[in-house]
Amino acid sequence: MQINAISIAGLSFAYQGVDVLRDITCAIPTGDYVGVVGPNGSGKSTLMRCLLGLNRVERGEISLFGVPLATFSDWHRIGYLPQGLQLFNPNFPATVEEVVRLGRLAGKRFPRRFDKGDTTAVDKSLELMGIASIRKRLIGELSGGLRQRALLARALVNEPEILILDEPTTALDPDTRENFYKLLHDLNTERGTTVLLVTHDSSTVGLYASRLLYLDKRIVFYGTFQEFCSSSDMTGLFGHQNQHLICRRH
Ligand code: ADP
Repeated sequence: MQINAISIAGLSFAYQGVDVLRDITCAIPTGDYVGVVGPNGSGKSTLMRCLLGLNRVERGEISLFGVPLATFSDWHRIGYLPQGLQLFNPNFPATVEEVVRLGRLAGKRFPRRFDKGDTTAVDKSLELMGIASIRKRLIGELSGGLRQRALLARALVNEPEILILDEPTTALDPDTRENFYKLLHDLNTERGTTVLLVTHDSSTVGLYASRLLYLDKRIVFYGTFQEFCSSSDMTGLFGHQNQHLICRRH
């Protein structure tokens, strides 16, 4: 039996008594590529933070690789690219290499020292992202596209099995964005990395992802793009034209 990368059952979440997520139940199979879309404020980032244990969940259950979140400790198996990191302070005093190396801390217990294995992993990740030649540059000095690549190199440095990206392309120009999506596609198909991509770009996510999670505090839709496309409920909700703009299958 295949274990789901992520399973969520009956998850609700509130900030100071205000409901943001309501009764979320879904399972993300290993190796899937899920596009997470929904209006602003629909709880997308909140859901990602719940999955990562950054928001304390009081109602509902989350498991990663079949392990309940409360006892999950293999954080090096998860890569995360948070939202808003592109707004880095230009004077942030760390080089590209140092930022990527920090990603290695997730797999370490006390005392958290770096060793040869870390150097190799950092080198590999810099190579993969094509930024080995700028490893000594300060992260804050880079263009949006290069900085995003450095941050993705950090998220990938432990060769994670699940990659969670929260609006990663906001700061990217169209060409860099294309390359970025291509890289995610390769990671997903070649390494089998499970990808969760939060995006406001509901009209292009269908080109890349295999499944769609449409959130509006609750799950409006979760399934494959084919299912989305042929769902009469979704036609009722979005209208025929928008439904097909989102599904992008024909
Ligand atoms: P999305 O990612 O879909 O734009 P968010 O998960 O960021 O949505 O936010 C969902 C709702 O929760 C919004 O109304 C937002 O204002 C609120 N919210 C987000 N973070 C916090 C926080 N730390 N404290 C209080 N309210 C928050």
